[in-house]
Amino acid sequence: MLLLASLLEATAQIQKLNNLGLIMQQAITALSHQPIMSIAVAAPVGGLYDYLAGPAMGAVRGSLVMVPFGGRQLPGIVMGPAKGHLPPAKLREVALVIKLPPLSDAMVQFIERVSAWTMAPLGAVVKMVLSQPAAFGRPPQQKFYRLAAKHDKKRLTAARKLVLEHLCNPDLLNDGDFAAGIIAACGISQAVLNGMETAGLLKVDLVSADCPPPVPLCDCDHLTLTDDQQDAARQLRDAIGQGFRVNLLDGVTGSGKTEVYFEAVEATIKAGKQVLILLPEIALSSAWRARFAARFGVAPVEWHSDISPGQKRKSWRFILQGRVSVVVGARSALFLPFPKLGLIIVDEEHEHAFKQEDQVIYQARDMAVLRGQLDQLPVILASATPSLESWVNAGKTGLPPRYRYLALPKRVQNAQLPIITAINLRKTPPERGRWLAPPLVEAISARLKVGEQTLLFLNRRGFAPLTLCGACGTKLTCPNCDSWMVAHRLAGLMRCHHCGHESRPSNDCSVCGSKDSMQACGPGVERLAEEVLWRFSDARFAILSSDTVATPKAADAFIQSVSDGEVDIIIGTQMAAKGHHFPHLTLVGVVDADLGLAGGDLRAAERTFQMLSQVAGRAGRESRAGIAMLQTLESDNPVLSSLIAGDRDAFLAQEATARLTAGMPPFGRLAAIIITSPHEDRLYQAMQQLSASRPHFDSVKIYGPAIAPIGFLRGKHRARLLISADKSVNIQNILEDWLGPIKLASSVRVQIDIDPYSFL
Ligand code: ADP
Ligand code: ZN
Ligand code: ZN
Repeated sequence: MLLLASLLEATAQIQKLNNLGLIMQQAITALSHQPIMSIAVAAPVGGLYDYLAGPAMGAVRGSLVMVPFGGRQLPGIVMGPAKGHLPPAKLREVALVIKLPPLSDAMVQFIERVSAWTMAPLGAVVKMVLSQPAAFGRPPQQKFYRLAAKHDKKRLTAARKLVLEHLCNPDLLNDGDFAAGIIAACGISQAVLNGMETAGLLKVDLVSADCPPPVPLCDCDHLTLTDDQQDAARQLRDAIGQGFRVNLLDGVTGSGKTEVYFEAVEATIKAGKQVLILLPEIALSSAWRARFAARFGVAPVEWHSDISPGQKRKSWRFILQGRVSVVVGARSALFLPFPKLGLIIVDEEHEHAFKQEDQVIYQARDMAVLRGQLDQLPVILASATPSLESWVNAGKTGLPPRYRYLALPKRVQNAQLPIITAINLRKTPPERGRWLAPPLVEAISARLKVGEQTLLFLNRRGFAPLTLCGACGTKLTCPNCDSWMVAHRLAGLMRCHHCGHESRPSNDCSVCGSKDSMQACGPGVERLAEEVLWRFSDARFAILSSDTVATPKAADAFIQSVSDGEVDIIIGTQMAAKGHHFPHLTLVGVVDADLGLAGGDLRAAERTFQMLSQVAGRAGRESRAGIAMLQTLESDNPVLSSLIAGDRDAFLAQEATARLTAGMPPFGRLAAIIITSPHEDRLYQAMQQLSASRPHFDSVKIYGPAIAPIGFLRGKHRARLLISADKSVNIQNILEDWLGPIKLASSVRVQIDIDPYSFL
């Protein structure tokens, strides 16, 4: 902590020097010639560029500008005095200064630190922050009508009288109204208003058409918290305004974590600060929204891929102006320009959806902690199955704690946690060509009899993951990727889940010419639905996957119909595992509990544990007890045995030991280099170049380069390297020194992934 404090102090000093430098340079050079500024331009390739100040005289670090770049004008951020040594004659001038408050110091530092950590170009991070250039201009203007001083009521037409009466209404805000409000209230036309304006009967002001979002209401009626909840809530409330501190809120599914962090949200709003709540996109359901609205009387401002550009433009501007109190969003919301952020919450902090895998490769949870540190504010990480990283940081494996640990060990209202059991597929296998084993079938029948719901979980979209020729063994693969084409019978096509390539299905083999020889292998959710229909012909079933429920609206409708008891059996992919609260659901059947465990993925065990706990947690959320049954070929697998024993902490302890022994994150550092090229020879050449210049350090191991597990993806050949190092090693520096000087062929792309989650 001491180290951190001095680091931050040092940064603040540098900050002051930067601004001082800028001002001094401006003062000196204003006498002779124009000052030169270093600008971070929102271009995915670039970093800092020098520009003549021009209209940006007097700008400070963080000011937003537009600059000429190539043949275009791009947004940029003033970072400080000139960095380069180009003579002024060679420099171009800032085009214009954007009339908005400059970014906060902490925000500018955040941009620099994210770029340094992820090794993504500074300009790529700037581009994420300045994501809404449409917000820079003046918002659209609208006419606001008020009564002019004098008018002779007797000589007015009936329509004009109505307008007059409406504008005399003492309830009107600012003694006037917009055209839309007047027209709606009086049933008149715009022409009446135009006529009154010309006749001087109305005063007209042009005001912004964008209305800031309503302020969340505090002190509304809300649930009475349990003792555990109150205890955690008090500690979180007390942390507001007290500087940087990370809190791990560890609560079993249904323990009421959301209500607890809402208390901290309220305290932050009362302190006049802004709140950012990050959720995995998929968890941002209408149920969450409704709970926020019930607690705070208004809808939250949302930020994710489904929000329209117009709405984003408005919100971005209001956020930068400090006129938005609470934003709930997906990982990209972390890059919004809050000037007075007071709290960051990362809900479902263990979710891998927080890792962005393209462009700037970053882990939003980790970067949220960085932002909290730079902004000096509390961060809440909430989960029922904390990531090993957070578990270690909370001091649970014996290392000194860096996070405060807050636990909610019980479900609210005495609901019990589900009982988890295994079904050994070796002892009680399903019939040939079927996937539900007899004990699970029996349990489903029992639920159907008493009108309770079942969720069958299989994390595989479509009908079958593999189609092959029974005569020659040919497997149907994607032309652009090393992957199988997945049969989607509902859509009537074959689809590659990596690149989206689609083709028509055929029963005949295109390689050996055999007729009717193509066979579907293995189940997807559609095939399971077929079996459900065959076994329980009277049951009402529905598939919940991104193919069948593609939009948030459709998801809401689906969840509503399940809550209303219109479905007996839900057949779902991971979409069904998340956050939903289904009151009548008492049985969860996991069709293939071994599915996620295969492969060389560092977090396979952890991910499977989290996913299965989440999905099991859907069962018995209210008064009736729930049960989860895991179909498996290896019930003594440690992941499954800890699940069955209900001993999450034992699992985390095992996993920690395994990673510690292997020197893997969070105990060691890991980075991946991914090399891609459409030309195979160029890829091999690049692999050789990297191999020949590889650095040699005792504390650093380099594996590869080797062809990636998916060696061909979206038309590009791929190779990977993995670099593992002691925790004390600055892996970014090593990569910089190694890769910086290498000149690669133009078709070759190198991506760096610090702390990779994907190993494909
Ligand atoms: P978690 O996020 O921990 O799974 P939630 O916050 O979603 O739990 O809460 C689960 C359910 O319990 C929700 O329907 C919520 O409204 C309800 N709930 C939470 N706290 C209380 C409480 N103190 N009293 C009654 N119901 C509560
Ligand atoms: Zn064939
Ligand atoms: Zn493909």
